[in-house]
Amino acid sequence: MSDATFTASSHLLGRNNDWLSCLTSVLSQAPIYSPTASQDAELLKQLSFVPGLKEILLLRQVHALEHATVWVLSRPADGAPRSSQRGRPADNGQLGGMSTDKGFYLYGQVNLPDLHRGVRVALQRLTSGEWDLAVHPRCGTNFSVALALTAGFALSTSLLLPRGPIEQLLGLGLATTAAAYLAPDLGAVVQRYITTAVPFNLEVDRILPLEDPLGRSAHFIRVHWIES
Ligand SMILES: [Zn+2]
Repeated sequence: MSDATFTASSHLLGRNNDWLSCLTSVLSQAPIYSPTASQDAELLKQLSFVPGLKEILLLRQVHALEHATVWVLSRPADGAPRSSQRGRPADNGQLGGMSTDKGFYLYGQVNLPDLHRGVRVALQRLTSGEWDLAVHPRCGTNFSVALALTAGFALSTSLLLPRGPIEQLLGLGLATTAAAYLAPDLGAVVQRYITTAVPFNLEVDRILPLEDPLGRSAHFIRVHWIES
């Protein structure tokens, strides 16, 4: 590939990155719509014939509650952040979760009273308008988005660029760089509008202490659906 071709490709990807980055950044920070408390319940009434719809709606709401609980537990009860980088909210990397349509698993060391408080506060803050708590940078959604972007960009550059090994290698480098650059913002957008929803229809049943197969501490927070 000539210098001119490489420079043109870089500029093309650079412009696309700027445009896409700007768009995803705006989408990830400014809600396009305001969720309403009855939206999922109404959708379920209108589309009650769709199999599995209730489970999907439950899973999205549980997923938001899981993220918000991790955010809340990353702060001690006195409200002071445990740690913070460049003004970002504190995130306790020792805590992780996995959502199901029955509730969510929370992995990591946490006292049961703190967990009860964390879940209650997370639910209250989410339904009071703090929808940003539903988005988490360590969510698996971001990894899925990064993988999909990398595959898409790699395929595109492979088809667009000359077939020589150097050009293809440079194309792969550009593809992975662009995907890594865009994935966090795009992942946040996908979380906000697709994989999570404000848990207006969730009520916590009980919290069960568990151990994972490796003997590490875990809890299952069981929830059920309520009409809002
Ligand atoms: Zn997640």
